[in-house]
Amino acid sequence: LRTCWLNGTYIAEEQAHVSIFDRGLLFGDGVYEVAAVFNGQLLDADRHLVRLARSQREIGLPAAYDAATLMGVMQELATRNGIQEGLVYLQVTRGAAERDFPFPAQVHPTVFAYARPKKLSDDPNAAGVRVHAVPDLRWQRCDIKSTSMLAQVLAKQAAREAGAFEALMHEDGLVTEGGSSNIWIVRDGIAYTRPTSHDILAGITRDVIFDVADDAGVTVVQRAFTLEQALAADECLMTSATSFVLPITRIDDHVVGSGAPGPLTQRLREGYLARAARLTA
Ligand code: PLP
Repeated sequence: LRTCWLNGTYIAEEQAHVSIFDRGLLFGDGVYEVAAVFNGQLLDADRHLVRLARSQREIGLPAAYDAATLMGVMQELATRNGIQEGLVYLQVTRGAAERDFPFPAQVHPTVFAYARPKKLSDDPNAAGVRVHAVPDLRWQRCDIKSTSMLAQVLAKQAAREAGAFEALMHEDGLVTEGGSSNIWIVRDGIAYTRPTSHDILAGITRDVIFDVADDAGVTVVQRAFTLEQALAADECLMTSATSFVLPITRIDDHVVGSGAPGPLTQRLREGYLARAARLTA
């Protein structure tokens, strides 16, 4: 039986219920985080909690628990559920109240977390994945890790129907990001990724890769690139907390580079894995 945590209490997932009036359900009025568990320990949970606090600030939702408490909860869920490799999901909504768009007078946030196992070190997708290019239909504050994600649901469903692992979203000809990942290309030995702005989520993995790349002697340039540049790239890759670094070997029916995981992508994945192992040793 799996244990989750809801508003301060550890309970069986089957017993965890929220109101039909929860604003997370009614409006998607909430924010969330997903952190990896590696060697039974949280990875970069501190950074994820900093981003959660920022997301909450940006939507005017005060913290109900401090970061140390949430960190303890996330680790406890990994431990209680016997997770060696996997993830912890944490969500905060503006709670239940009579349905009305503006904030309620009294906010009682709904805060919950759960854990799941997932293969991270030995991910079969490390052999290379296909992505499906779709227009980015999202709103103008994609820097907020919001639970309002209908555009990503539709993008990732379209990707699945196209036989792809992830959606590659683009707007005004430029690649924004993946459905739930940041996208990178490699051209002539240099790795490019879009600069942070309101147009994309500032991925924690993306941020960590700057250090990993530095250690691996890989030059990174933060510059937006077009879909055509992605198609013509030597390598293409995606990063996220629960996929680490994955080679993108196909964009729809187009083969990227040699069609095999590229050497820089492999160096970044190995560097990321080595760092994860070091931090959780
Ligand atoms: N971009 C989007 C839209 C995401 O949803 C995610 C993660 O879920 C990412 C990027 C990657 O962010 P991180 O590396 O923090 O997981």
